[in-house]
Formats: sequence, C-alpha cells, structure tokens
Amino acid sequence: MEKLEKRIKRFLQERGWNHLRPSDLAKSIMIEGAELLELFQWENLELEKVRRSKELVDEVKKELADVLIYAIQMAVLLDIDTAGTVNRKLDYVEKKYPAELMRKNAKKGSGSGRDAEYWRIKKKKKKKGP
Ligand SMILES: [Mg+2]
Repeated sequence: MEKLEKRIKRFLQERGWNHLRPSDLAKSIMIEGAELLELFQWENLELEKVRRSKELVDEVKKELADVLIYAIQMAVLLDIDTAGTVNRKLDYVEKKYPAELMRKNAKKGSGSGRDAEYWRIKKKKKKKGP
C-alpha cells in the first residue's frame, strides 16, 4: 500500500495535480464507480458467470483501477493513512457483522441483501451511528 501511495503522490506532483480539491476527487470516485456499475446495467450476473467472462473481468479491472486511483489520490492529498484507516474500518465492520452469525444466514448467491439479520443489525446501528 505504501509503495502505491508513494507512486500516486509522485504521479500527482509530476503533473502539478497535488492541489486537487477533495470535492473533485469525490466526484471522480463516484463517476468511475458509475462506469463500473454500467458494466452490469440490465444484468444480474452471479459471481461465477462474471468470473468466466474474461472480457467482462478485464473491463471491471479498468474501472476498479480508476476508482482505486482516485480514492488513493484523495487519501494521499489529505495525509490519510490508507492501510490504517481501512484496517480500523474492517475492525468495526467485523464486530458489527459477526462472521458466525452472518455465515449461518448466508445463502449461496443471495448476498447479504436478503439476510434479515443483516438488515436488523444495519438498521439498529444506523440509529446509533458508527
Ligand atoms: Mg473509467
């Protein structure tokens, strides 16, 4: 992660882009996220079907890279410790959604969106805040 952050910092400095506004980076993250979502517009492909489509996975890689690059640019310009921030958030999410409970309710291919326990926890935490 550190290597990547250094490379992105250098990339920004070399181009004189090291004063980009965070609001512009936030917009760019969402625009690239929309491009990622567009790859799945009108289709609800299951994981295995996407994995088997080399062409689609190649397109996902490109859009995912765009999202990640803008996200890391924002982190670098705001002096955010990316790895530390992600690890702290994962610690929080691991506690919020206990693995044993989530696994017990998980149905193959359904994702968490159909899990009533997931929604109960999500709504309860939303009222309290992070
Ligand atoms: Mg793109």
